[in-house]
Amino acid sequence: MSRRAHARTKTPAAAVVIVGGGVMGCAAAFELARRGVEVTVLERSVPGAEASSAAAGILGAQVESHHPGPMTELGLLSRKLYPALVKDLERVSGISIGYRRSGVLKVAYEASDVARLSRELAWQSRAKLPLARLNKKALSSQEAALSPELAGGLWFEADATLEPRALLSALRIAAEKLGAEFRSGSLVKRIAEKNGRAVGVELDDGSLVAGSHVVLAAGSWTSLLTNSEAKMPHVVPARGQIVELKTSAPVLQAIVFGPDCYLVPRADGRLLIGSTLEFVGFRREVTAGAVAKLLSAAIRLVPALAEAELSATWSSFRPYTRDELPLLGPSATPGLILMSGHYRNGILLAPISAQIVADCVQGKKPPLALTPFAPDRVVK
Ligand SMILES: Cc1cc2nc3c(=O)[nH]c(=O)nc-3n(C[C@H](O)[C@H](O)[C@H](O)COP(=O)(O)OP(=O)(O)OC[C@H]3O[C@@H](n4cnc5c(N)ncnc54)[C@H](O)[C@@H]3O)c2cc1C
Repeated sequence: MSRRAHARTKTPAAAVVIVGGGVMGCAAAFELARRGVEVTVLERSVPGAEASSAAAGILGAQVESHHPGPMTELGLLSRKLYPALVKDLERVSGISIGYRRSGVLKVAYEASDVARLSRELAWQSRAKLPLARLNKKALSSQEAALSPELAGGLWFEADATLEPRALLSALRIAAEKLGAEFRSGSLVKRIAEKNGRAVGVELDDGSLVAGSHVVLAAGSWTSLLTNSEAKMPHVVPARGQIVELKTSAPVLQAIVFGPDCYLVPRADGRLLIGSTLEFVGFRREVTAGAVAKLLSAAIRLVPALAEAELSATWSSFRPYTRDELPLLGPSATPGLILMSGHYRNGILLAPISAQIVADCVQGKKPPLALTPFAPDRVVK
């Protein structure tokens, strides 16, 4: 069949077509399916193939917030949605997500750095967010494995963690059980438009998948699919590398943010060391220099890690925008909704982003103003 003839072959209309099966696409599919909306997810590889499975799984609404504003509001709303979402997902999918209100310790080697951090984050106390300053003694009684070199830190008791790979499986399975369709191996070439409205997408084999709405959730690849005339902020890949260690029993309970790395303990003795932040395009390699730096920063924080088994390394791409805000909500093209650019916090932000996208599809008022995240905003 010629390419032109093939392009005319339409598959049956799906109400909502989602491009990308990362945490964004899967969370939107679950939310739409549980609201009774017909939805199809098109994923060029398999769901969870990219950044979402590489993430450390920190739900760091407070530790990642440096000033009040729309991003902080988005993160706090999303963190609040997690406990109920986890319950629903685990019940429907039968998969345990490893959600734990672990808390996060942000630590420093110099007392002056602890004092500076407290001053910087005093706005969180004023905003009535739970936050405590720990001195050296309090720190070592909370986490005995931490280095005696540390002077103290801040304690974000309400930040949490989960296992991103389990989250991805649970979202997909639960969404499928509620009627969502997932098509792995479907490479989307472009958004199909008719009279200026998005009416579906064209796949690389020329076939069209029609829909009343298209949700673009293609992570770091989003800007490869947007119309070049559309004046949207670019989404570019920001590589992050992770080293995974294994110990016979967990050496930490809380997540620890140090000056040059963070440590994320898992209940089974695995411990993730993250991460680098590199603008190197789509180069996937894990580098010797990054592994060396991460390991030495981690061993300085927790000396006992020198004896741990090095069990894995990986890298992936955070979807970065220059103003570090996601593209979330309706675009200038009717029918096209953006759900991308969540950069360092896509796992945290998935529940609220899915609600916003589902509200946009259903013409409902979203839970917060979307202007700061408008896909057609001008980024200076
Ligand atoms: C090392 C690292 C650690 C991180 N740690 C955390 C953390 O602790 N907490 C946190 O909240 N966030 C974390 N993040 C960020 C988080 O992983 C991302 O923000 C989030 O996964 C982005 O999700 P996504 O669905 O937009 O993108 P992705 O997961 O990249 O998914 C996009 C999907 O779209 C598909 N796709 C692309 N183009 C097409 C096409 N043309 N046709 C069909 N399919 C297509 C891709 O194959 C991919 O599966 C981390 C990221 C990295 C790299």
